[in-house]
Amino acid sequence: MAGPRTVRAARGNRLTARGWPQEAALRMLCNNLDPEVAEHPERLVVYGGSGRAARDWASFDAMVRTLTDLRADETMLVQSGRPVGVMTTHEWAPRVLIANSNLVGEWSTPEEFRRLEGLGLTMYGQMTAGSWIYIGTQGILQGTYETFAAVAAKRFGGSLAGTLTVTAGLGGMGGAQPLAVTLNGGVALCVDCDPRAVRRRLDHGYLDVAADDLDHALRLVEDARTRRAPLSVGVVGNAAEVLPRLLAAGTPVDVVTDQTSAHDPLAYLPLGVPFEQMADHAREKPEEFTRRARESMAAHVDAMVGFLDAGAEVFDYGNSLRAEARLGGCDRAFDYPGFVPAYIRPLFCEGKGPFRWAALSGDAADIAATDRAVLDLFPDNEPLARWIRTAGERVRFQGLPARICWLGQGERDRAGERFNDMVASGELTAPVVIGRDHLDCGSVASPYRETEAMRDGSDAIADWPLLNAMVNVASGASWVSIHNGGGVGIGRSLHAGQVTVADGTPLAGEKIRRVLTNDPGMGVIRHVDAGYPEAERVAAERGVRIPLRED
Ligand code: NAD
Repeated sequence: MAGPRTVRAARGNRLTARGWPQEAALRMLCNNLDPEVAEHPERLVVYGGSGRAARDWASFDAMVRTLTDLRADETMLVQSGRPVGVMTTHEWAPRVLIANSNLVGEWSTPEEFRRLEGLGLTMYGQMTAGSWIYIGTQGILQGTYETFAAVAAKRFGGSLAGTLTVTAGLGGMGGAQPLAVTLNGGVALCVDCDPRAVRRRLDHGYLDVAADDLDHALRLVEDARTRRAPLSVGVVGNAAEVLPRLLAAGTPVDVVTDQTSAHDPLAYLPLGVPFEQMADHAREKPEEFTRRARESMAAHVDAMVGFLDAGAEVFDYGNSLRAEARLGGCDRAFDYPGFVPAYIRPLFCEGKGPFRWAALSGDAADIAATDRAVLDLFPDNEPLARWIRTAGERVRFQGLPARICWLGQGERDRAGERFNDMVASGELTAPVVIGRDHLDCGSVASPYRETEAMRDGSDAIADWPLLNAMVNVASGASWVSIHNGGGVGIGRSLHAGQVTVADGTPLAGEKIRRVLTNDPGMGVIRHVDAGYPEAERVAAERGVRIPLRED
C-alpha cells in the first residue's frame, strides 16, 4: 500500500512529462503537497481544515503516473481526488478535469459528507487544495490587503493613515490582518486569547508590537494614530470582553472586524473560560461550551453593532460570527454587512479577482521579472504597484515561487500574454502556470460570502460557477475544476477554478487570450445579470457581449 512520503515539485526547464500542460499539472499537484506549502502533507491536507490535494496516496501515485505519460490529446478525469479515467480528447481540451466534494442538493450536508468521506468515496477539496493552485499564505495576505484597501477607498480617501482598526483573531489566516492594515497606512489593534498566536505573528513580521496589556496597547495605538504612522499592536485577551470595554470607554475606533474562528463555536473562547482550559472544556462539555461561546459571540457582536452606531466602518470577515451571535441572542447581528457586499462587489463588477501565477522553473528571479512586467503593464494602478513592491520585499515564497494580485477584465489577458511572450523569448527560464482562487468574480455561488445580498436576490443560484467551468473548458484552460463547500462548508457553496499554462508557444498564447478574457468576463456578465450598473459600464467599455442588452 502506498504511504506518506515527502513530495516536492520538479524544478527547471526539463520536461518529465510529455508536454508542459501535463508537466505543469504534475508539478502543481506535487507543489500543493510540498511540506513548505501544505499544512499536513502526510495526510495530503493542504490547507483550510481538511482540504486535500488527493484522496489517498494510491490515488496520488496513480495521478503522477498518468500525468507523466498523458498525451497532448488526452484528458485525465479526477473524481474527488482520485483519477477515475483517461479519455481521448484534443489539443485544445484541458489535460485534467476535476470534480471535488459535490453532492446532490438534499444530501449536501456536512454530516452526510463526513459519512461518505469515512467510506472513502469522496474528499474535501476546499478551493485550491484539490485543484492544485494553492500558493501558501501569500494568498490570504493579498486578499486581506485588498479588502482593507477597498475599505480605505470607500471611506477614508484611499489610505488608512490616521485611522484605528480593531479586530480579533491572529490565527493562520487572521494573522494577515495587522500587516494588511499597516500596508494600507493604518493602525491596528489585534486581540487574540492565545499568547502563542500573538508571538507567532510577531516572529513572522506580520505584527509590529505585542503590548503588555490593554492600557499599554491603547497608548501605543493612540500615539501612532496621532502621528499618522502605520503600526500594528497585538494584545492577549478575549474579544468578547475587550470590545465591550473599548466601546464603553468611548475609544475612537474607525474600522471594526473579526477573524476569530467563529465558524466553529468549539474554537471560540467563551467568557469566563481561561484560555489554558479551553481545549479540555470544549472536549468534555461540548454542548455547554457551544452555548457559552454563542452567548459570548453575542456580547462581542453587540459591541461591534455599538461601534457601528457610533459611526465606525464595521464588517463581517467571512467567519460566520454574525450567524453564531444571532444563535447566542444578538438580534442586531446582521445590522452590519459581510465584506463582499461592502467592499469587494464593486471589484467583482469589473471582473477583478485573485489572479495568481507560479514559476515552474522554481527560480525566484522569474517571479521578479513578472513583477516588473506587471508594474510596466499597469503604471497607473497605485495600490497594485504598492502591493507588488511590498510582496517582492516581504513575501517569503513557499514551494514554487508564485505571485498573486487582483486584476480585472481586460487586464488578466494582457498580463498572461506578456508572460507567455517572456517564456518564448527566454526572459523567463521555464513556463509559468496562471490560475486563480475560486473566490473570484464569476466562479462561485456562496450566499454567506461571495454572493451574499446580491442585488436581484440570486445569492444561491449556482448555474454561474457551472457555466464558468464550462466556458474555461471551451476556451482552452489546462485544467478545470468544480467544487462544493470551499470556504464556508459543505452545502454552502459551489465554485469553479481554472489553471492555464504559458509555455511560450503560439497555441498557449491563443488559449491564454481566450481563457483570461472569458474567465473574468463571467464575473462581468454575472453582475450585469444581477443588475449592477458598474458591471454594465464595464461590459460596454470592454466589449463583453450581453444578448439581452443588444438590439
Ligand atoms: P485559526 O483557528 O487559525 O485562528 C483563530 C484565532 O482566534 C486563534 O488564534 C484563537 O486563539 C482566536 N480566538 C478564538 N476565540 C477568541 C476570542 N474569544 N477572543 C480572541 N481570540 C479568539 O483560524 P483562521 O485560519 O485564522 O481563520 C479565522 C476565521 O476567519 C475562520 O472562521 C475562517 O473561516 C475565516 N476566514 C475568512 C476569510 C474570508 O472570508 N475571506 C478568510 C480567512 C479566514
